[in-house]
Amino acid sequence: MGISARDFIEREMAGRWIAGPSLKDAIERARQIESKRMEPMINYLGEAFGSNDRKKVGEAVRTYEELISLMAKNRIKGSIAVKPTQLGLLISYGLLERNYSEIVKEAEKRGIFVWLDMEESKYVDDTIKLYKTHVKSRTTGICIQSYLKRSENDIKALSGYNAVVRLVKGAYKPEPETGFTSRAEVTENYARLMRMLFETYKKFTIATHDTGMITEAMKLEKRYKKDVSFAMLNGIRNGYAESLASKGYNIFIYLPFGREWVSYAYRRLREASNFLLLVRSILSQNA
Ligand SMILES: Cc1cc2nc3c(=O)[nH]c(=O)nc-3n(C[C@H](O)[C@H](O)[C@H](O)COP(=O)(O)OP(=O)(O)OC[C@H]3O[C@@H](n4cnc5c(N)ncnc54)[C@H](O)[C@@H]3O)c2cc1C
Repeated sequence: MGISARDFIEREMAGRWIAGPSLKDAIERARQIESKRMEPMINYLGEAFGSNDRKKVGEAVRTYEELISLMAKNRIKGSIAVKPTQLGLLISYGLLERNYSEIVKEAEKRGIFVWLDMEESKYVDDTIKLYKTHVKSRTTGICIQSYLKRSENDIKALSGYNAVVRLVKGAYKPEPETGFTSRAEVTENYARLMRMLFETYKKFTIATHDTGMITEAMKLEKRYKKDVSFAMLNGIRNGYAESLASKGYNIFIYLPFGREWVSYAYRRLREASNFLLLVRSILSQNA
């Protein structure tokens, strides 16, 4: 029996960046991650494009609820990561708020942490506003991007809320007025924001594959002794993540699943700094 081009590409992506198209794939891969002493951070793929369709939004909410229940049933210790546009932001903030609350409530009952992913800069205000209304539960965290000039102020403001932050460089295209456009500036700002987290936060996650930033975080950790964890994307530097986990560091692996993989794959392709690196990460999983 022949397979379609879509099935072929999905199968090739599965096992590399994405767990696979189904919930079953996500749970299976999550188990493998756990067996290597790391924690999965599971994301159901789907964002901006098509998210002004109420049916799709409803389907995303139901999938997350099913995921939470399956994680609990399979005793998977980990978190889920949701995108505001996927939960209805493009329809209305109110709808997003209701959906997010429902998911957080369900997750809280099962002891599962919920991360709010950060998307394009035009959605940052709403995402932060949403987070502030839920931060008290202590079972949610928010992603902050070092490519945005505003992030320094956001980190300052959120520290007053006892927030849990996951720091990333940012996967979206910067605009010169609001963002840093060179890689060097983005990394420099990452280092600055990371120091702020060590100085003023209790609990946070350093989400990067950049060895320089990870080494610097380890030095700061020795000095500040904070509740710090590291996070990487599934399929990028897996070997490095596993070696850190074996040394006793808390490692989270961002694990996407689902059929809407195009935007996600596009961002990862853009980030691979050279083709050889990309091929290495695809073939060996150990780059
Ligand atoms: C757990 C997690 C959650 C994230 N959540 C968000 C989010 O909510 N919002 C958001 O905007 N971004 C998010 N990102 C993506 C992030 O913003 C960056 O786009 C991505 O992590 C690449 O940046 P870097 O920090 O690894 O640094 P880079 O400087 O891009 O990369 C450092 C090194 O990592 C390796 N590497 C990086 N990417 C690749 C690749 N595609 N293929 C092969 N090697 C690679 C290379 O060795 C490279 O030199 C997340 C990242 C992680 C790890």
